[in-house]
Amino acid sequence: DTDGRVFNFAAGPATLPAHVIKKAQGELYDWHGSGMSVMEMSHRGKEFLSIIQKAESDLRALLNIPEDYAVLFLQGGATTQFAAIPLNLCERDDSVDYLVTGSWGDKAFKEAQKFCKPKVIWSGKSEKYTKIPSFHGLEQSPDAKYLHICANETIHGVEFKDYPTPKNGLLIADMSSNFCSKPVDVTKFGLIYAGAQKNVGPSGVTIVIVRKDLIGNAQGITPVMLDYKIHADNNSLYNTPPCFCIYMCGLVFEDLLAQGGLEEVEKKNKKKADLLYNAIDESNGFFRCPVEKSVRSLMNVPFTLEKSDLETEFIKEAAKEKMVALKGHRSVGGMRASIYNAMPLAGVEQLVAFMKDFQARHA
Ligand code: PLP
Repeated sequence: DTDGRVFNFAAGPATLPAHVIKKAQGELYDWHGSGMSVMEMSHRGKEFLSIIQKAESDLRALLNIPEDYAVLFLQGGATTQFAAIPLNLCERDDSVDYLVTGSWGDKAFKEAQKFCKPKVIWSGKSEKYTKIPSFHGLEQSPDAKYLHICANETIHGVEFKDYPTPKNGLLIADMSSNFCSKPVDVTKFGLIYAGAQKNVGPSGVTIVIVRKDLIGNAQGITPVMLDYKIHADNNSLYNTPPCFCIYMCGLVFEDLLAQGGLEEVEKKNKKKADLLYNAIDESNGFFRCPVEKSVRSLMNVPFTLEKSDLETEFIKEAAKEKMVALKGHRSVGGMRASIYNAMPLAGVEQLVAFMKDFQARHA
């Protein structure tokens, strides 16, 4: 019983835990006896300050974020960070390196071209973004200020299982689609960023975790809204923040801690992903996942049908059984099941049962 809800396999905005939404519903009209909804509160009042401070401290606890890193709650999506990162971390003529393992890494690289001198030191494009390179043979630019990766490519379903250690400069990661899905050693990174709308909340807030010594050297042309120093000095309250989104993220962080933290969350995610990948691999080629096994994403599972003309029917029939948003990204086609933290095991079990039944009827 899904309590009136569908199993939503969308890539983002994506499903959130039903009990978290219910909790928000319970306090939507009157938050903790304040007589106001969170969306009506002054961002400088004591109520909202308590909300943002708790959200930050719970996130710090979840990811074990050291004190020498700032946590910023920003706007503009991860896309804005594609520009903010070079603007804050380098000069116009500085060289930086990008590992391009999918469309999002490619977009980040292209945006950086406006603000510094980025170089693609590896691209998976010719292999249709199904791989992550081995780090040994990678040649970095001698003076690269940073190495940028997309930790999980949402469209192609490739995920870094460990991380390169750049010889030169800092490691920077777009973790939009696997943020808080497993433990991460934050100290390996100069900066981590993530749009909230896959694993931790509604769209509208972007979380940036940045080593404090990297803050304060933005290029002169940097708009005030993109300058990390402005936001860090003002605890993300320089201008009106996305208050309601930050509140929702806070509820999700609280819930992830209550589940036992990210080790526990990762176990659940692995179980769901194994179930789905095994069903694909054991279908005798009826279903196929193009991604190399060792780098398959725990979050986004792209797959195709051998008989591709059945794909529309597959998606339609699944929707009838309350499993929605299984259509693959328009750039790759096929299907994609996004199985973020909040996708219950029951959702994946139902999908796998449906796949077996669909195969039996069409094989
Ligand atoms: N990076 C990744 C890995 C994404 O999946 C997305 C969106 O889906 C983005 C960046 C862009 O994020 P936004 O839409 O928040 O700008």
